[in-house]
Amino acid sequence: MTAGVETREFQAEARQLLHLMIHSVYSNTDIFLRELISNASDALDRLRFEAIAHPELIQEGAELQIVIERDEKARTLTVRDNGIGMSRDEVINLIGTIAKSGTKEFLARLREAKNADMPPELIGQFGVGFYSTFMAADRVVMVTRRAGESTATKWESLGEGSYTLEEVERPEQGTTITLHLKPLDEEDAHDVDYTKEWKIREIVKKYSDFVAYPIRMDIERTEYERDAEGKIVEGGKQEIKIETQTLNSMKAIWLRDEKEVSEEEYQEFYKHISHDWSAPLATISAAIEGTLMYRLLLFIPSKKPLDLFMREGSRGVQLYVKRVFIMDDCEALLPEYLRFIKGVVDSEDLSLNISREILQQNRQIERMRRGLVGKVLDALKRMRNQEDEKYRTFWGEFGRVLKEGAFQDRERQKELLDLFLFQSTNSDSELTSLNEYVTRMREGQEAIYYMTGESRKAVEDSPHLEAFRAKGYEVLILADPVDEVWTQSVFEFEGKKFQSIGAGGVELGSEEERKQEEETRKQKQETHASLLECIKNNLDEYVKEVRLSSRLTTSAACLVGDKGDMSPQLEQLLRAANQEVPTTKRILELNPSHPLLDKLQAIYDASREDPRLGDYAQLIYGQAVLAEGNQPPNPAAFSKLVSKVMVEAL
Ligand code: ADP
Ligand code: MG
Repeated sequence: MTAGVETREFQAEARQLLHLMIHSVYSNTDIFLRELISNASDALDRLRFEAIAHPELIQEGAELQIVIERDEKARTLTVRDNGIGMSRDEVINLIGTIAKSGTKEFLARLREAKNADMPPELIGQFGVGFYSTFMAADRVVMVTRRAGESTATKWESLGEGSYTLEEVERPEQGTTITLHLKPLDEEDAHDVDYTKEWKIREIVKKYSDFVAYPIRMDIERTEYERDAEGKIVEGGKQEIKIETQTLNSMKAIWLRDEKEVSEEEYQEFYKHISHDWSAPLATISAAIEGTLMYRLLLFIPSKKPLDLFMREGSRGVQLYVKRVFIMDDCEALLPEYLRFIKGVVDSEDLSLNISREILQQNRQIERMRRGLVGKVLDALKRMRNQEDEKYRTFWGEFGRVLKEGAFQDRERQKELLDLFLFQSTNSDSELTSLNEYVTRMREGQEAIYYMTGESRKAVEDSPHLEAFRAKGYEVLILADPVDEVWTQSVFEFEGKKFQSIGAGGVELGSEEERKQEEETRKQKQETHASLLECIKNNLDEYVKEVRLSSRLTTSAACLVGDKGDMSPQLEQLLRAANQEVPTTKRILELNPSHPLLDKLQAIYDASREDPRLGDYAQLIYGQAVLAEGNQPPNPAAFSKLVSKVMVEAL
């Protein structure tokens, strides 16, 4: 080893990813070139951006470009850019380690699953980018010089375990990456030779046509000797001429007329900006004219990324100002509840110097955001009305996120509620919209009934549902954690109140039936008033009231809240998020037609001091808690009590 060459180990996760690339799990090796070009294009974007404040970073007369060189004899392929480049530390941090949480998560999953079970599209979600070069090469050399620095760094690796670093010279800023391609497998007719001109041309055209910088390559052309009339002279002289050609059209796809862009071009562009390997579910493109001018090209992905619910997950669209790239992940342009949208917004009005901090309070940005939200919701509405199946796919992937809009965006609440789909007791599999629910509402039904819970099963098994089921009332089943939250701040839909069947009183059936039931219950309530009081006294710690229920048909008891009380699930959620929440005492409801009530009354009538009354009160409360899928306050004491009562009964 020569002096000045340092060998370093890849970080463990990076090693794992490289291993995956070398023993390529994905059959489309071509994409390594797309990844290199995309990195070069990013590097040029960043240089152009930094040069707004520091024009000296771009040498006079230097044209920003990407150059591809191929050498058939040496079997090398080189991609060179004069972009921002990397410092030595950046090389170590950006190339030698994996910082992105999404990729870490992906690798963790990979460890769980077997290599073979991993759907290839998943890999694409992590922008494995640079490492994909090892699908085609067995040695990769990179020379890079950060703009503004005087020395360059040479990085070299065989992809197995370690890499070397060395200080070298590079005449201008930027990065050169040379792939020493794997030997061609002569036996395999499908093995691709990446030194072939046509192959490079094909890949660039397919994946990188819209890249905003010229991608240049030397093209060989044979010139034949011609006669005065321009005809080729047979047996004449031949000369091989080399000329540099630009392989891509460079036209920003969002500037082109929608009708002129093919579906495939949109898809490729989407993949370029999103690192997703599957096609998007929908494409939204628009040119907004008027006092504020901008173009947008947005995509609704067909699958949720793994970081959708992570705090540091990537979100937001790319922001351009007059065709100059400003930033990735511009969160200010989209509300949280549309964080799954990918795409580009190109403004004619914003200043090139706009910073992330300014964005938050910029009024133009605010207006653009409204515009974007409108376009996305319109597209979703259209999909919902015209492409039901697609919309259901969308809902399955992103419904949980869209629901956040119900409390984040009051202005659009109605529009959003129209888009929501729910599970309901009406069908085991079909989802329903609120509109559909309303058309099915029974005569005299005033509220939209729903129940929140941990899962569909938990809701279906809950005693609260009994009377609704018995009397044929449909109940929406809300089993996403976010349902606990939005139902706290959305009160009605088209004049119908939302009502949790776990809170408040319940009045079902025709007016006549209700009256009758109410009367009977009142009577019973009076008959048992003293007993109910006694049970309440025994459970003072946990409940604020004990009363007879109109929602139970088979279970003996259940717990409910007052209208407007926090549900226990919401309390849990808030506590999990480190918020201080007082415990809301609940109401214990007893089934007036359950034999338990009369038996208790008998004991109570015989002796108000009977110690069993206290035990039974605890048991009734404990089982009501259990029926909700929660733990009784003191599980050990509860189970001792159960045994004790069993012994007494046997
Ligand atoms: P990603 O592009 O998704 O960030 P990559 O693996 O493709 O992931 O690249 C990792 C990082 O290495 C990039 O984010 C960038 O900072 C740096 N990098 C890669 N190629 C270049 C390049 N040609 N010029 C400057 N930096 C680069
Ligand atoms: Mg990349």
